[in-house]
Amino acid sequence: MKLDMVNMDVESTSISRFIRKRIMPESIASHYIAGNWIADAPNGFDESINPANGQSLGRFPLGSDQLASAAVLAARQAFEQTAWACDPNLRSRVLFEFADRMEANKERLARLLSSENGKLLVQATHEISAAVSEARYYGGVARNIFGRVRETGPGNMSILAREPAGVVSVIVPWNAPATLLVRSAAPALAAGCCLVIKPAPQTPLTNARVISLFDGIECLPKGVVNSVNECGIEVGSTLSTHPDIDVISFTGSSETGKKIMANAAASVKRVSLELGGKAPAIVFGEADLEKATREIVRASLTLNGQMCTSISRVLAQDEIALALEDRLNEAFKRVVLGDPLDPGVQLGPLIDRANQERVLGIINRARHESELILEGSAPGGRLSGGCYVSPTLFRIDDTDHWLVQGELFGPIVSLESFEDENEAVAKANATRFGLAASVYTPHINRAMGVARRLKFGTVWLNSHNRLFAEAETGGYRESGIGRLHGLEAMHDFLETKHIYLEADG
Ligand code: NAD
Repeated sequence: MKLDMVNMDVESTSISRFIRKRIMPESIASHYIAGNWIADAPNGFDESINPANGQSLGRFPLGSDQLASAAVLAARQAFEQTAWACDPNLRSRVLFEFADRMEANKERLARLLSSENGKLLVQATHEISAAVSEARYYGGVARNIFGRVRETGPGNMSILAREPAGVVSVIVPWNAPATLLVRSAAPALAAGCCLVIKPAPQTPLTNARVISLFDGIECLPKGVVNSVNECGIEVGSTLSTHPDIDVISFTGSSETGKKIMANAAASVKRVSLELGGKAPAIVFGEADLEKATREIVRASLTLNGQMCTSISRVLAQDEIALALEDRLNEAFKRVVLGDPLDPGVQLGPLIDRANQERVLGIINRARHESELILEGSAPGGRLSGGCYVSPTLFRIDDTDHWLVQGELFGPIVSLESFEDENEAVAKANATRFGLAASVYTPHINRAMGVARRLKFGTVWLNSHNRLFAEAETGGYRESGIGRLHGLEAMHDFLETKHIYLEADG
């Protein structure tokens, strides 16, 4: 991988003062501004830690308001002064080349992602493939952006042009850092926008490797893609308040999303928010329990239970509630915990020590406040150096309880029961989140009827967590605003301009 500093001509002194001619080693995630790798660390360095064993994978410099502003300036200059914003064929070429480079580096990226994040290698490999698919999809969409023309009277034209919205800040979480970066970046780039990315502090190396695949794409103008690391909120605040940012594409928790929305309000920025979730799985009496159990176990443990769409509530119809509980209990007990790079393992570690302790604290409270069926714990022995927690299953009938209302973000599943369809829908809808849900029944009319009544951005029928670059995802209520994936993702990154032409005479 070529990560040499490029000595380029940068007009702005406020960018050039940060530039250093340096190699970026594999174990350092530098900032990337105007086509340069910059290891300036005004707030020191931090380490990226492998959650499977507590060992350091590398270091990253912590940015500042000044570095973030320099990155915004670089993006603004690229937007105003290069062909990027008005050349869809160039954008398409760049996205296809980026996708090809990601595919060629898939194995290395997946191993790094698995080591830095703790997700199973098979899931990390799937994540990189999904990111490749996103980049290719939007590489095609870039050449399919059309406006409209209407004749308003003899010779008079209303022209509706679609234009790139400008400079976009892309703020990324740690749980799927490659796909979620590309899920925002690819439609924004396809639209003609320029980017300033802020990786999550838990996964800076993965994001730097993905961003490095843009470096060296010869036809990509410098400054179209920029990135600044941090560990606190200084860079994130600049990226949500800076007057030269037009759109904020944020993926993360609902709590942070609300702060970003408040920051954005001061200068009326457009926000695209992909936020937290609390996905219910509704299992009707006539469902195939074997298949439902398989889907629930798989989709509650994906990314070690740390996926926004993970199944965290199971709603079972009264007559099968006990049978389903037994099946889930047996399946969760058999789950193999261990090193995420080991192909025989089914559950890896949580992202860090703080989250391991947080999840163990939830389990401890669940022991007193619910009917615990299977109690998760941190294994000892050879796994004690990692942030592991085994699966937890508990029964609860109080929909208002914090265990049902809160996003627990770990391998923890609650079991509730319902009598009929109306109660199932009412209980499923009873949280502030509305990201994703699934319904299990062979009766297609019931499945479709329930899907229409659920207040969730995605409803899967007899499956869970099937995501496609072509199919929009996003949240109702406190799970977000706007949609990513699919054609609707373009709405966040395009402006519509009305040009009226009055005929002569
Ligand atoms: P988080 O909200 O703590 O952080 C997300 C990003 O925001 C990180 O890069 C973080 O450094 C940054 N950030 C934190 N405070 C900020 C501030 N005040 N201003 C600007 N940026 C700030 O979330 P997380 O712990 O990284 O990720 C887990 C959360 O993300 C869960 O709630 C999960 O449901 C959600 N998520 C949602 C989706 C979705 O598609 N809806 C996908 C993945 C994760």
